[in-house]
Amino acid sequence: MGERIGFIGLGNMGGRMTRRLAEAGHTVLGYDPVPERSAEAGARAAASVAEVMAGSDHVLLSLPNSSVIERVVLDPGGVLESGRAGQIVVDLSTAAPSSSIRLHAALAERRIEFLDAGVSGGAAAAEKGALTVMVGGSAQALATLDRVFAAIAEKVVHMGGSGAGHTTKVLNNFLNAVSLSATAEVMLAAKKADLDLSLVLDVINASSGVNFATRNRFPRIVRGDYLEGGLTSSLMTKDIALYVDCLHELGVPSLAASGPLAAFGLANSLGYAEQISNRVVDALGDVAGGVRLHDGGTGDPR
Ligand code: NAD
Repeated sequence: MGERIGFIGLGNMGGRMTRRLAEAGHTVLGYDPVPERSAEAGARAAASVAEVMAGSDHVLLSLPNSSVIERVVLDPGGVLESGRAGQIVVDLSTAAPSSSIRLHAALAERRIEFLDAGVSGGAAAAEKGALTVMVGGSAQALATLDRVFAAIAEKVVHMGGSGAGHTTKVLNNFLNAVSLSATAEVMLAAKKADLDLSLVLDVINASSGVNFATRNRFPRIVRGDYLEGGLTSSLMTKDIALYVDCLHELGVPSLAASGPLAAFGLANSLGYAEQISNRVVDALGDVAGGVRLHDGGTGDPR
């Protein structure tokens, strides 16, 4: 028998993780302000956060940012007020570590365990149940949810105490932002230099410039496939801002953040905010005189 799992926030990531949990035999009770998302993901729909807390053994969150997470946890009728001792709440969002540490402390007073768990791999890995998860908080609580994590992840790593999971996630995502925006620039330059883009990627992937974007994103983007359904430009911008705040709190200077902040800020301003962040290459291409890496493809969804 699976467990009764509550899931709050069934968007691109949460919906796919919910589907995996349901397929692994867990009963999932979902809550999202867009009510049909629960049924679409194979969950029973709850009408409120309180209903999810009452009807679940443990509860997972996948929400846009820390201010939404704080409201869902701390507002009247939220996770804190309607949860019960012994429940484990796992926040699978990308969130501010300092906020996650505060929520952990508030929930601990009611003996509700809070794990901050960054997930990596995007929509494609969520779909296959092959995410990488980096977890902060009690190792014992993590072990209790062994079978739950097994349904959504290929690799689960306990990073340390409260905040360690979300800190690791914020550091990783910054490198993702750097490699995506820098590769977008490079590929536009290659296009304007009349180079064969497939050959350029082939050579980079066997050279020192290789990165996640050259390996996994641009071979598809040059054919007009933007890998829709993944992280949007507005969420990417949030991740970079989290990184800058995090480094400020740690007293480490960030000299590398201005490039990706400008690139994704430009994408947001040009109307790509709710498109997949891979569209940053089109935003830069607009400014470079309407350049696209591909002929045709999926077109402009703005
Ligand atoms: P999304 O916008 O598709 O999903 C967020 C969901 O939360 C939506 O369905 C929305 O209706 C719901 N929601 C908003 N306010 C709510 C509330 N008050 N109560 C309940 N539900 C509420 O975003 P996503 O792409 O699924 O990302 C979710 C989180 O995971 C973000 O923190 C993101 O940074 C992180 N993340 C995303 C990816 C990715 O590739 N998309 C990868 C790793 C981590």
